[in-house]
Amino acid sequence: MFKSILGLEGWEVLEWLKPPGEYHFVSRYTVVPDTCPKCAVFEPRLYVHAWKDQQFRDTGFHGKHVSIIVQRPRYKCRECGETFQQPLPDMDERRFMTKRLLTWIGDRALKRTFAEVAADVGVDEKTVRLIFADHVRALEAKRRA
Ligand SMILES: [Zn+2]
Repeated sequence: MFKSILGLEGWEVLEWLKPPGEYHFVSRYTVVPDTCPKCAVFEPRLYVHAWKDQQFRDTGFHGKHVSIIVQRPRYKCRECGETFQQPLPDMDERRFMTKRLLTWIGDRALKRTFAEVAADVGVDEKTVRLIFADHVRALEAKRRA
């Protein structure tokens, strides 16, 4: 049930919290990287060096603002001794949002005011404006290609 709510491949939801107006899914991404991003060794011997909780905004539903609280491991590679955060392909690291939320905001802001879009998903208006600018640039680049 949780799995279908999240709708993202490889995620496991551990807990569903419901603070006022919000849904928070405490989750882990279950995919262990098969290559070390530091030394590029394939199937390196990794172990979890530390855990950290990080909050990522996601698309809303039931009229709630949704966040995924990621319990994210930092791995240490036994091949090179370096540490790195678990890669999360569904997340935009710069904005702390799911990539699907970025797309959603970009599309939505074509039709609604930035303030409305911001209120829909629970981010500030400035963030919507910046995402929209990126979205329009990407659309223009696609058209020119
Ligand atoms: Zn390594």
